[in-house]
Amino acid sequence: MTNRRIIALVDCDSFFVSVEQAENPELKNKPVCVLSNNDGCVVARSREAKKMGITMGMPYFMAKREFKDCTYLSGNHELYENYSKKIMNILKNFSPDVEVYSIDEAFVDLTGVRRLYKKNYADIARMIKSKIMEEVDIPVSIGLAPSKTLAKLASDKAKNTGGLYIIGSRKIFKELKNTKVDEIWGIGNNTASLLRKFGVLNGYELIFQTDEWLKSKINITAVELKHELMGETILKIDSKEKIPKSIQHTSSFKNFSSDKNFIINSLNYHIHRACSRLREIGASCYSVTVLLRTKDFKLYKEKRILSVPTNFELEISAVAKELFEKMYETTVLYRSSGIVLDKFSFKKEEQLYLFDNSEISDKKNKLAKSIDNIEKKYGKNSIKTGY
Ligand SMILES: [Mg+2]
Repeated sequence: MTNRRIIALVDCDSFFVSVEQAENPELKNKPVCVLSNNDGCVVARSREAKKMGITMGMPYFMAKREFKDCTYLSGNHELYENYSKKIMNILKNFSPDVEVYSIDEAFVDLTGVRRLYKKNYADIARMIKSKIMEEVDIPVSIGLAPSKTLAKLASDKAKNTGGLYIIGSRKIFKELKNTKVDEIWGIGNNTASLLRKFGVLNGYELIFQTDEWLKSKINITAVELKHELMGETILKIDSKEKIPKSIQHTSSFKNFSSDKNFIINSLNYHIHRACSRLREIGASCYSVTVLLRTKDFKLYKEKRILSVPTNFELEISAVAKELFEKMYETTVLYRSSGIVLDKFSFKKEEQLYLFDNSEISDKKNKLAKSIDNIEKKYGKNSIKTGY
């Protein structure tokens, strides 16, 4: 069959932990866990931590009581995002058709790239793996197949087969016989149980149903999936950058604190990061939410809807400070602070009307731009709002 495409799903292994290990090599080959935003639970585990018996989502207090020999780290999402960007850029050097599927996963359309490198696709996948290892020190698993759905299946298997797994056309039937319907990407619990009810238990049985039957008894998605599983490309690689619906920036303090200035400082730092991300995507926001979490994990939130959207740090910190004052109590110990910006506007005019005087508006925009430029040159947080 012609027109077959070659899709790779590149998936970083234990991504958050791998980033921490790349930054601190003394953590390599040791039990390490990364915790969720407010140190609530385990969200990433090294191989050694998995072996110990630490499970995904296990509450931190429980894990540290039962598994004392493991290193637990607060998540540093900004760092993970930086690594993610670097990895995605490496992938874009191999092919322009890269779909960033999540922070640590991407589909890459490699069709035709073989001619460029004069290598077979397996060797190109190995090249990708070693390039990422060389440049950012992150291990990845790669699934290679003629469709996204099969590539996803292959990448799941790659985790246990040295990091590369290929489902070529000739292997499809054999693979699908060994794949239960609920293991197929895109089949949820409800669809899986419906399929089972009709006696369709694995991928192989699924592709032998007619399109009409699948459409009438299951749904139209099942028809698409059937063809994807047969190795036809139905789901295209979507390389457009996804614009987020909201931007959130939070982190836990090193030590619990009631110190008002300290907490406001931390909040301003989050605002600083969130605003530069907002400008990066060319948006301003209507909604500002301040988050405070106490030592006992109680979460307080205050939200303000602005009449005019903004992406300007000084304005957002002024609003955030008022919201903070509403929640803050001198006698309470806090463990983290954060900011959420959402309800975005992408209209340039609206941002200009923000200020009565367009000259001031111009100056503000210029100031924000210079801050971003300085940061590009000298690194993040080389400039911040003074408090
Ligand atoms: Mg992963």
